[in-house]
Amino acid sequence: MDSNTFRKHAHQFVDWMADYMEGVEQYPVKSQVQPGEIYQKIPTEMPNTGESMDMIFQDFQDKILPGMTHWQSPNYFAYFPANVSPPSILAEMLMSTMGAQCMKWETSPSAAELEERVMEWLRDAMGIPKPWEGVIQDTASTATLAAILCARERQSNYQVNENGFEGLSKYRVYCSKETHSSIEKGVKIAGLGKQNLVKIEVDEEMAMRPDLLEQAIKADIAAGFQPLCIVVATGTTGTTAVDPLDSIGDIAQKHGIWLHVDAAYAGSALLLPEFRWMIKGIEKADSFVFNPHKWLLTNFDCTAYFVKDSQTLINTFAILPEYLKTRTDGQVNNYCDWGIPLGRRFRALKLWFVLRYYGLEGLQEKLRGHMKMASWLEQQIKAAPDFQMLIPRNLNLVCFHYRPNEEADTSTINQLNEKLLHRLNDTGKIFLTHTKIRGMYTLRIVIGQTTVEQKHIEAAWAFIQETARAL
Ligand SMILES: *Cc1c(COP(=O)(O)O)cnc(C)c1O
Repeated sequence: MDSNTFRKHAHQFVDWMADYMEGVEQYPVKSQVQPGEIYQKIPTEMPNTGESMDMIFQDFQDKILPGMTHWQSPNYFAYFPANVSPPSILAEMLMSTMGAQCMKWETSPSAAELEERVMEWLRDAMGIPKPWEGVIQDTASTATLAAILCARERQSNYQVNENGFEGLSKYRVYCSKETHSSIEKGVKIAGLGKQNLVKIEVDEEMAMRPDLLEQAIKADIAAGFQPLCIVVATGTTGTTAVDPLDSIGDIAQKHGIWLHVDAAYAGSALLLPEFRWMIKGIEKADSFVFNPHKWLLTNFDCTAYFVKDSQTLINTFAILPEYLKTRTDGQVNNYCDWGIPLGRRFRALKLWFVLRYYGLEGLQEKLRGHMKMASWLEQQIKAAPDFQMLIPRNLNLVCFHYRPNEEADTSTINQLNEKLLHRLNDTGKIFLTHTKIRGMYTLRIVIGQTTVEQKHIEAAWAFIQETARAL
């Protein structure tokens, strides 16, 4: 493609992008297609000769768009958001045009040094201790796996990397029953065996009970196991419950156990000083992860991983074959040694654009706006006689159900709410997901979209009530 043709299409696409952002509400939030529908629309074989960009783009609009769920719609309240913003998208455009593969400092010094700087910016803005260092990873799952691997290597004095598990005692990892599935995945991949992941009971607020954690650790030590790692959830996926880091930190320190904090979603709220209580005791931890790609206006993927001691991370992952040796090794950060993949995208660029464009105050205003709307919705639910909050709200997630009849048993109420959820999502007007809280089918509304406004929440709430009462 010559540069004039590229320019023409690029301009055309940018117009489409701006129109999409303006008009995203016209699409059904959740894609309404059936399984196999899109697959059937795609030819069985690749084209023999090249096709025009006009045709490809037409097919994108006709065949692909209907099968998209519109994550950036202000009526998207499902899972956790993966919100984006114009400065982040613009940075992605530059980044993909340069197409730099930023594995080592020498393969693009700007990528390495900007990453070092923006991780420091975030660290300081979030109240992560000063000497800690940060590195961008692709996802929180990868960062948590890295933490478990580092715990394994520190505890075994790098013996597992060297010789495998032979002769070592059985390791144990601890998390609450409410933590994310990525912990179990990490334990499996790290070769520890998922039977050695101990899931600790939670309290009324769905947070880990430190007393039971300590009991489990003591019992494991008595039985000949070696405690390796504790994963604290700062904002669980189901209900944004916050495990008590400070007291769990004491237990970790007492027994010399790696302490990893999974704040994948809720971490963004640490930009607000009023939410710093969530990581009280962070100095006792070894590692911390959060996703700017969820609730900090930065395109997926961008995970911020902070560690107390970068040397452990590097010792766990660094490999230096001849073809990767450079003159600057030892003087600069080669981030391929700070995680699992060798190849790395220039993710720091979009984060830098976002942090600069909005500034700390701009981001704080967005986050506080989300909290305020969530608080408004919580008040409405509390005031409605036939709806109920199922757990107190702490951030911008509201967990509730419809309960028209106080006497009805749990399974009837659960079926009713499941039906309500599907009915709402099938309209394409809004998109929510669910979880279970103490056996109760729970509707979750997350208010964290870049462009969501009070009017969207009011319309969603009116629509939920109307749909529920018509069931
Ligand atoms: C979303 C989430 C994860 C997984 O994040 P990925 O970046 O998709 O791997 C892990 N932990 C918590 C608490 C989450 O909310």
